[in-house]
Amino acid sequence: MYYNHDTVVYLNRKMVKATEANGNLYSQTLQYGYGVFEGIRSYATEHGPSIFKAKEHYERLKKSCDLIHIQLDYSVEELVEASYKVLAQNNLQDAYLRPVVYLDPNMSLSKPTGVNLLITAWEWGAYLGDKMLNLCTSPYQRPNPKSVHVEAKVTGHYINSILATVHAKENGYDEALLLDAAGFVAEGPGANLFMEKDGKLFTPALGNILPGITRATVLEMCAELGLRCEEKQFTPEELKTADSAFYCGTAAEIIGIAQLDNYRFPLDWSESLGKKLQEHYSKLVRQPQPELVSNEQ
Ligand code: PMP
Repeated sequence: MYYNHDTVVYLNRKMVKATEANGNLYSQTLQYGYGVFEGIRSYATEHGPSIFKAKEHYERLKKSCDLIHIQLDYSVEELVEASYKVLAQNNLQDAYLRPVVYLDPNMSLSKPTGVNLLITAWEWGAYLGDKMLNLCTSPYQRPNPKSVHVEAKVTGHYINSILATVHAKENGYDEALLLDAAGFVAEGPGANLFMEKDGKLFTPALGNILPGITRATVLEMCAELGLRCEEKQFTPEELKTADSAFYCGTAAEIIGIAQLDNYRFPLDWSESLGKKLQEHYSKLVRQPQPELVSNEQ
């Protein structure tokens, strides 16, 4: 369960009990899917819970708001501080944080009349589990970038992710792979994709995907570990010639892909660059983030 009688949440600059926090049924977010959110993880460290890339997540939250005309009057610092407060007051260490910006009642298709910010947190295991995934190419494409701002984490965009996930599961797969409107490989319903071919990694270029914080972290880790990685568009046919592949995301972390449709990635996961990155990521997220260490001094 995401909350119980003791859970407290951060709502419009106050800490309140989850069971007493109310929204409004006439909200523009409920009526039209006009809202913005983030998915963030914290990890237990010797300095207490450490929120991985908190600043980057809240910068993306603010950017998502800007792109869809929501004026969010919070600084990144205030949002990070509020997140630590939510963890502390709920005694959480290894947790998932879910900030959501939702709007006041407004039945018109116009700019928001009022903006609310809620931050909740709960314990959540690896979103896609820890077993290698069997994927299917989804009949649902990612939203056309000429129709919506695909780079923004907008609540309404997630109907696309839900349709793709439900379709994949109903057809016996673990997860979907979505293509973009031009037919290139885009991403999963909640994760970015990397493939390995001949000792080099490739990941879809930005433009038609969510710019994942984990994706950026993988690129940083590649630079640090001296692994070659290129951002470029590629087709599902090219992906089906790769040696190995993985998904990455805050909730999913790094998880290997066994198979796409009827193509099995031939390289053993234990020999793959993905496995190396998975291990490195697992250590990296458990290192106290700089704001924690500096707060203590
Ligand atoms: N793509 C989509 C569609 C997502 O929902 C997510 C999860 N936020 C990701 C990619 C991965 O992003 P991140 O690494 O920032 O969690």
